[in-house]
Amino acid sequence: MNSEAYKKISSLIEIEENIPMHEFTGFQTGGVADYYVAPTNKNALVGVLEILSEYDEEYFLLGNGTNVICSDDGYRGTVVHTSKFKTVNFNEPNVISVSSGYSINRLCKIVMRKGLAGLEFAYGIPGTLGGAVFMNAGAYGGELSNIVQSATAFDKSRGVIELDNQQCEFGYRKSLFSRNVDLTIISAVLKLEIGDVDEIDRKMTENYVRRVEKQPLNFPSCGSTFKRPVGDYASRLIDLCNLKGYSYGGAQVSEKHAGFIINRSNATTNDILGLADYVSKTVKEMTNVELEMEVRVME
Ligand SMILES: Cc1cc2nc3c(=O)[nH]c(=O)nc-3n(C[C@H](O)[C@H](O)[C@H](O)COP(=O)(O)OP(=O)(O)OC[C@H]3O[C@@H](n4cnc5c(N)ncnc54)[C@H](O)[C@@H]3O)c2cc1C
Repeated sequence: MNSEAYKKISSLIEIEENIPMHEFTGFQTGGVADYYVAPTNKNALVGVLEILSEYDEEYFLLGNGTNVICSDDGYRGTVVHTSKFKTVNFNEPNVISVSSGYSINRLCKIVMRKGLAGLEFAYGIPGTLGGAVFMNAGAYGGELSNIVQSATAFDKSRGVIELDNQQCEFGYRKSLFSRNVDLTIISAVLKLEIGDVDEIDRKMTENYVRRVEKQPLNFPSCGSTFKRPVGDYASRLIDLCNLKGYSYGGAQVSEKHAGFIINRSNATTNDILGLADYVSKTVKEMTNVELEMEVRVME
């Protein structure tokens, strides 16, 4: 890193070096990141991003890493980890402002206790608010775009900006943020509905039980490896191609859920990406459907 940039960032926040990314990513694979910072508040997050942008330094925004795989060669830049930036404020009884590093599961529990409905679908998604907005995460018929009223973001060229729901350009597992990595989500305002605590709790538990029954939660993974192709399911197609249980190095197509690639035993990132490549080529050859990776690569 440029020494001036290093000095400026160090005056704001501790910079750590050579941090192993397998500790912070879903598959638990990958090499080290050269630099690592974990801001705890908006000023520190924006301050760090301003300096990194000013000096044209490479950086990667990391939430809970549950949809990120890091190259075995590591990352030659600064990882900006939001996991310590976690605040939630109630603007109105059913409108909350949530910082990017806030855990989705913790948020689900907080709003449930307040009798706020609309986030039940997300219970069990192991990410942060920032990662969920970026991915427009969803499950069981719901997705973040249904409840995001607005987002505050840092734009490399414009500084801090406000975007309403339309401007976030949400689509299936994508958003303006996933198309433009010059944008960092600082926080989002979510609009929920006044509901019944017991009913919300019941729906959340039901969703959670479905996950435990269907997903290989006892192995490291990033959830569904591929996006759902139009009108079909990646898991159905992978199963159809007899790839359930197929292994490559330490990586395996889960025997429990064909849509999940898992780190079965000491897999490397190369094993996982190699298997994902094999799966998508086989599915293309046998069904003529193109699978698109949902997992984001840090390299
Ligand atoms: C067991 C399991 C089950 C899962 N189930 C689901 C599911 O049901 N539905 C679903 O949609 N997903 C699911 N996922 C995938 C994943 O949890 C979601 O995509 C989640 O929203 C990612 O959040 P994260 O904080 O971990 O983001 P990360 O994995 O850290 O990051 C994902 C992407 O978002 C970017 N990003 C993160 N924070 C910011 C920010 N503040 N500003 C800008 N960019 C940012 C990163 O650079 C990266 O490109 C599952 C994963 C696992 C392991």
